[in-house]
Amino acid sequence: MGFEKFGRVSFTAQTKVAGFVEQLEKGEVAASRCTRCGARYFPPRADCYQCLGGEVVFEPVRGTGRLISFTTANYAPTGFEADVPYTLALADFDGLKVFGRMSREVPPQELAVGLAVNLAVVRLPDGQLTYEFIKA
Ligand SMILES: [Zn+2]
Repeated sequence: MGFEKFGRVSFTAQTKVAGFVEQLEKGEVAASRCTRCGARYFPPRADCYQCLGGEVVFEPVRGTGRLISFTTANYAPTGFEADVPYTLALADFDGLKVFGRMSREVPPQELAVGLAVNLAVVRLPDGQLTYEFIKA
């Protein structure tokens, strides 16, 4: 399995970071960690830009994050037109910055920097997998 199972728009099927989607299938959102120097990346990276190592493992992003920033999109790129408006967010999970969509179940008036959030895997109506932030 590769990235063809992720999101709304097709991605290339074969990639070194396909482990990210395998973790989603298990119900967990994963970051990559370089096996040489320990650097963590989200979205996952196939290679480490700090030590140039090429071996990574995928580790679930667990716990509660804090919202750093967010914005609501009212215009969308190709493939996402039917989704607007939607809110994109950046949250800090113990030093790891994670980017993603905010759940529509979080009322816009409750969005604020510092809001406690968790990550949740979402299966879209067409069977594709993605993830979003939910209120902790
Ligand atoms: Zn490294």
